[in-house]
Amino acid sequence: MRLPRFEYLGPDTLEDTLDLLATHKDDAKILAGGTDLLVRMKKGLLAPRVLISLKSLKQLSYINKKENAICIGACTPLADIIGSDLVQNEATALSQACDKIGAVSLQHYRGTIGGNILQNNRCQHYNQSQFHRSGRQPCHKDGGKICYARDEGDRCYSTCQSDGATALMALGAKLVLISKENERTVDLANFYTNDGIVPFTMESHELLTEIIIPATGNVSAYQRLAYRSAIDYPIVCAGVSFVCSNKQVDGAKIDGAKIDEAKIAVGAMGRSPLFLAQASSSLTGKGVSDLGAFQEAAKQAMNSAAPFAVHNVGSSLEYRCAMVEQMVFRALTDAAKATTAAMAE
Ligand SMILES: Cc1cc2nc3c(=O)[nH]c(=O)nc-3n(C[C@H](O)[C@H](O)[C@H](O)COP(=O)(O)OP(=O)(O)OC[C@H]3O[C@@H](n4cnc5c(N)ncnc54)[C@H](O)[C@@H]3O)c2cc1C
Ligand code: SF4
Repeated sequence: MRLPRFEYLGPDTLEDTLDLLATHKDDAKILAGGTDLLVRMKKGLLAPRVLISLKSLKQLSYINKKENAICIGACTPLADIIGSDLVQNEATALSQACDKIGAVSLQHYRGTIGGNILQNNRCQHYNQSQFHRSGRQPCHKDGGKICYARDEGDRCYSTCQSDGATALMALGAKLVLISKENERTVDLANFYTNDGIVPFTMESHELLTEIIIPATGNVSAYQRLAYRSAIDYPIVCAGVSFVCSNKQVDGAKIDGAKIDEAKIAVGAMGRSPLFLAQASSSLTGKGVSDLGAFQEAAKQAMNSAAPFAVHNVGSSLEYRCAMVEQMVFRALTDAAKATTAAMAE
């Protein structure tokens, strides 16, 4: 598989990058690590005329804490996130998710967190070689009129399999998007279109520069299921986070930690990571070691996520739905253990 021809542009400054994006618009694609983009280009899934590389923009690679938030530059390599004590301690779910992405080589040498969030939705019927796809009618995402993943599918149901985005949704993250004329901050939960062909509410001349994660003492955890432990995408994944408090009388703890707020997000089950509001709010006021409440929330998560999923990530739908319950329950118990440990310190 060979790359199609393209013009390579390597701007040195943020200003130049935004100028180039404004000039080339839909003709151009941003190149970060290239581990998603170049694979799609080799498979003939897209052929941008221009690639604008972020390689020289070292100012977009950082992790730091500002007031009550962790700020991560979009070009930060996955390996830096995995190795960061700050992320490990205060945004554990993200650290655990990045540790599962691809393989060590991909995390260390190429993959960035921005590229991870903005990787294209996937589908086993579509993410194939040109030769494979040429054997049958094109689907919606290939410019045709049918969908192989859902009977009578009237649109594209390709699946978001980003580990990073699922963890970030559970952490309540925001994204900073910059263009030549504008800068905006958007909640990750509102960043998706629900259209598998164009999954993000982002213009072609916008650049993702920063990810902001609220860090207000929450505890989080991430679990995922994939066929292989490396070089494989998740077939189900779940991120959770808790904000907890201790109930005290005269300074003595009387009934352990309570969950003030929980966030549960499930990935690889729809066109975006799914924030499960009902399952999340069912945990408000529950004890942090209330396994019965966790089981109920996990079941509710499965019921809410199931209608979004289709047959397109290489495993039966029934199995993936059943595994949502397992992944959410495991992530909840991991977060509970971490909460108990943190409160004992
Ligand atoms: C073998 C293999 C296994 C993989 N396994 C996993 C996995 O388990 N989990 C997982 O989540 N992913 C996986 N991936 C997908 C991918 O490698 C990672 O998501 C990686 O983090 C993508 O980052 P990148 O910098 O290489 O993105 P790129 O390929 O450079 O970019 C991805 C997309 O985002 C756009 N983009 C990138 N940065 C910006 C920016 N700052 N502003 C605007 N647009 C931008 C690009 O134009 C492109 O469309 C795998 C990939 C491969 C090849
Ligand atoms: S979900 Fe349907 S339309 Fe979308 S890529 Fe897969 S087969 Fe094509």
